[in-house]
Amino acid sequence: MIVTKYHHEGQFPDLPALLTQLDGLLRSGEYILSAPVEQFEEDFAAYVGTRHTVGVNSGTDALVLALRALSVGPGHEVITVANTFHASALAITSVGARPALVDCTPDDFLMDLDRVEAAINEKTRAILAVHLFGKALDMDRLRDIADRHGLAVVEDCAQAVGARWAGRRVGSFGDAGCFSFHPSKNLAAAGDAGAVTTDRADIADALRVLRGLGQRTQNNHVVRGYNSKLDAVQALVLRHKLSRLDAWNDRRRELAARYSQDLSPHAAVPPPAGEEHVFHLYQVAVPGRDAVLAGLTAAGIEAIVRYPVPIHRQPAFADLSLGQSFPNAEHQAANTLCLPIHPDLTTAELTYVIDRFNEAAATTRGAHR
Ligand SMILES: *Cc1c(COP(=O)(O)O)cnc(C)c1O
Repeated sequence: MIVTKYHHEGQFPDLPALLTQLDGLLRSGEYILSAPVEQFEEDFAAYVGTRHTVGVNSGTDALVLALRALSVGPGHEVITVANTFHASALAITSVGARPALVDCTPDDFLMDLDRVEAAINEKTRAILAVHLFGKALDMDRLRDIADRHGLAVVEDCAQAVGARWAGRRVGSFGDAGCFSFHPSKNLAAAGDAGAVTTDRADIADALRVLRGLGQRTQNNHVVRGYNSKLDAVQALVLRHKLSRLDAWNDRRRELAARYSQDLSPHAAVPPPAGEEHVFHLYQVAVPGRDAVLAGLTAAGIEAIVRYPVPIHRQPAFADLSLGQSFPNAEHQAANTLCLPIHPDLTTAELTYVIDRFNEAAATTRGAHR
């Protein structure tokens, strides 16, 4: 059996209707900042629960533009977590600021909020909170720390679209919420796409100027911006899928519950009551990770490591000396793997993955005795 990490075929609830819309759009020529983009922005703001959404080219650009809109730049530091995806830290360096890394916790691998205050100094401007793997950070605590120190909060929601903390969607807590619609994410465009959500009219306005080459009115370029707009083809695809996102995330939670029950003792830490995880990834820590991964790969299962190299060890950031002592991030990189999880995973595939994982983990345990 082959079990893939993604599956796109079942992701179009009414493909003929979408194709009719795309047909009309292609003939109209209204590709840039036209009605489909505005409609998606409205729908997505309503979904997340913010006043504004500004569509951009990618999740990476969403982070860069959000930091720029908050006037983060050279001489500033932005606190983020050491085990995030490269793009979170890259966005900070792209605006000329320095990432100040904080270790993750040893159990859920999210930013350790007990360590945040020690990383704050007079250069700190913002906290970049990453809802990794589809799991929401404790935004009450994080907001409280940020407010006490007068810091902006940018949420990296690339892996957590639809996730909730205390009943509210991620992306609605920070000064800006940054989303990726890369085809690997829970809400997938047919190419690169992203968005920023915010309740602040000043931030939304700054983002609109920044994404359009810094233009306030025709030929009036007031800042050095970017060309980073969500295009109308992606907006149609995303709007089509948005109505199904909650059902897909429900299915991910069902699959995760089965994994958690049957993979014991290696199962992921279950989310606390009241928190709604959307399981972008199903992450497990297992002794002999590389041997288990090889066993799964040999059995046709697309298990993956997210991410094998923590931020402070990446060659691209070597000149920044981002620090060496993030033991939990190192442990996560060396000992965890992600099992396939997507809404179209069948019960037979799930059972196959569980059986092969438990076999591989038992063999490795034997070898370690
Ligand atoms: C995917 C991802 C991004 C970047 O999104 P792109 O759309 O690929 O640019 C940023 N942060 C995290 C945590 C991600 O997973």
